[in-house]
Amino acid sequence: MSKAGVFAMALEQLESAAKRLKISDSTLRVLSHPERELTVSCPVVMDDGRIEVFTGHRVQHSNARGPCKGGIRFHQSVTLDEVKALAMWMTWKCAVVNIPYGGGKGGVQVDVTKLSKEEIRRLTRRYTVSIMPIIGPHKDIPAPDVGTNAETMGWIMDTVSMFQGSTVLDIVTGKSIDLGGSLGRREATGRGVMFNTLELLKRLDMQPCRTKVAVQGFGNVGSVSADLLHRQGCRILAVSDVTGAYYHPDGLPIPDMIEYCKTTRHNVLDGFSAPGVSKIDMNDIFGLDVDVFVPAALEKQITIDNVDKIKARAIIEGANGPTSPDAERVLLKKGKYVVPDILANSGGVVVSYFEWVQSIQSFFWDEEEVNKNLQNVIVRSFEAVWKVAQEEKTDLRNAAMMIAVKRVAQAVEERGIFP
Ligand code: NAD
Repeated sequence: MSKAGVFAMALEQLESAAKRLKISDSTLRVLSHPERELTVSCPVVMDDGRIEVFTGHRVQHSNARGPCKGGIRFHQSVTLDEVKALAMWMTWKCAVVNIPYGGGKGGVQVDVTKLSKEEIRRLTRRYTVSIMPIIGPHKDIPAPDVGTNAETMGWIMDTVSMFQGSTVLDIVTGKSIDLGGSLGRREATGRGVMFNTLELLKRLDMQPCRTKVAVQGFGNVGSVSADLLHRQGCRILAVSDVTGAYYHPDGLPIPDMIEYCKTTRHNVLDGFSAPGVSKIDMNDIFGLDVDVFVPAALEKQITIDNVDKIKARAIIEGANGPTSPDAERVLLKKGKYVVPDILANSGGVVVSYFEWVQSIQSFFWDEEEVNKNLQNVIVRSFEAVWKVAQEEKTDLRNAAMMIAVKRVAQAVEERGIFP
């Protein structure tokens, strides 16, 4: 699916919230532009001796409320336009849950499935050095995203530490526990998706045990969301990843599917089989008879071309930007609920914030404390967004954006424009 215009989509969402908030044209102009965009070329010696050059980006949208924060994506379809949109969404995400960060994002255009682990490690280290002038524990703190994980974060942390001459734990979040990561961080985004889903079900008078769910994407966000919703009693009828979609009319054996993925080279579902489970067409995941659909793969998955297929009453955006604005208008017209990405998948950055705090203090919390604090932040943020949506008679995205944009605009205006 084309990713052209993802930044235009982010701008459209900003403009809609700014209009309702009556933000001044000057402040809107500031918020519409990322503060900094860096594009780097990363030469890497491949295992066969060839030199490949990979293009990477790091975009800092806003540091008005604190250091920039956002993941690093390794994917073949990464573009500067996409990274700009993702950086802007990070600004709103941190603001809607009220943590003291701005928004940033990074990405390298690379198909990691075609590289060996050593090649990925060399690429990560080269990319890290290339963006090092603009990252730092109080400037911009990267984290994992599509195609990167705790191991990648460990390489970034080590690379920066080699240059610094001392270990810099707070340069990244999403590290392994051995390297000062936070308990609960790996599961945090999916856990946040689960808390958001439960909050919405409560308000719609729906019981988890009677709720049928489909999840697109079975990576960090999708697999944990599916697992935790399954543990809450929901029936996960379908999940998909880049290799295919799987369906069971009574509910999939999610824990077995997670264990299966661990045995495959790229953590994929390809080849999974179990009694009653059938493989279905990838695109059929959109049209299943479920109550909740969790897109947890990439952006622009629900578009004007497939929105009419969607039967789910609620869409919980595990991924960033999975619903195009025109498709969302159709969903809302049909009375469906869309819990927007900046709220639905904010669990990751909330626990990243907890990890950063723990790294700075060199004082680590137990997992129960992490999860409890995460729940408090998500429940409080969901309540605030729901309330604004009711008061302003608007949808959940607009409500979340209104809260977030207001906070960032206030910070921009109070700080004033330098010089
Ligand atoms: P990941 O790389 O771990 O997983 C991505 C999954 O999507 C994989 O299972 C992949 O096979 C699948 N996929 C890709 N294209 C697909 C397609 N066309 N159909 C079905 N499945 C497809 O990435 P992730 O970290 O789980 O991130 C997923 C989404 O969540 C992204 O939009 C990311 O920006 C967002 N997100 C991630 C985090 C985090 O903490 N990791 C936090 C907030 C938001």
